[in-house]
Amino acid sequence: MNLNDVYSALSKIGSLTITTLDEGTMHSRIISICGGDDDGIYFLTMDVKPFYRQLKSNPQISICGIYPSGRKEGKNAAGQPYWPPGFMLRITGEAREVSNAEIHDKAAAGSELHQYSQDEAARYPAMKLFCMFKGKGELFDYDFELENRDHKLLRKRFAFGGETAGAAGTRIDPDKCVACGECSEACTFNAIVEGDVYQVLGERCDECGSCIIACPVEAIECSKTM
Ligand code: SF4
Ligand code: SF4
Repeated sequence: MNLNDVYSALSKIGSLTITTLDEGTMHSRIISICGGDDDGIYFLTMDVKPFYRQLKSNPQISICGIYPSGRKEGKNAAGQPYWPPGFMLRITGEAREVSNAEIHDKAAAGSELHQYSQDEAARYPAMKLFCMFKGKGELFDYDFELENRDHKLLRKRFAFGGETAGAAGTRIDPDKCVACGECSEACTFNAIVEGDVYQVLGERCDECGSCIIACPVEAIECSKTM
């Protein structure tokens, strides 16, 4: 996924939760992302708000959201709550305030996002633009009822601004696996490939742990990233 794909997914969600750290205490609030370009993902706030003060004292932020936002009424064939296909998105990284000179230059170069920021600042003088310039995250695409494919999950990890994305999913140690098949039997996510040694398809794995419990030789490790 590139930043364009990330921004498209954020736009589809609409309102997102953003969390800041204020002297060790987390604060969450709802924001709307106002744009994205090659330099990052942008949002607005006002310099008189605690949100602004928190961002200036500690640039670490975390963003997450889900689409569609509501849990659908009703049950599936097994009598469990029904989730329509959708996705969750989360990103952890850092944000910086965008200078007036940068806003001006990008607006002059044709950026609608930066022109919008200028217009907002003209209406609300305390308005400030921030850019999440580096981060890493995951798009967690789910289809729990297998309406559109033969596996429940598709996890797409991404990173930008110099960050590195880690691999998702549990891992089978090939030196320990005796190919008994117990893990594959236990996995309801169709995430394990059979072979001389078995393998986990990380992008399909929910990290639910059923295979770890089922394996008789303790060959499967939890995910160590994110
Ligand atoms: S952790 Fe769960 S989803 Fe992942 S491979 Fe094991 S059983 Fe399947
Ligand atoms: S349960 Fe353990 S030993 Fe058996 S196939 Fe899976 S990883 Fe290999």
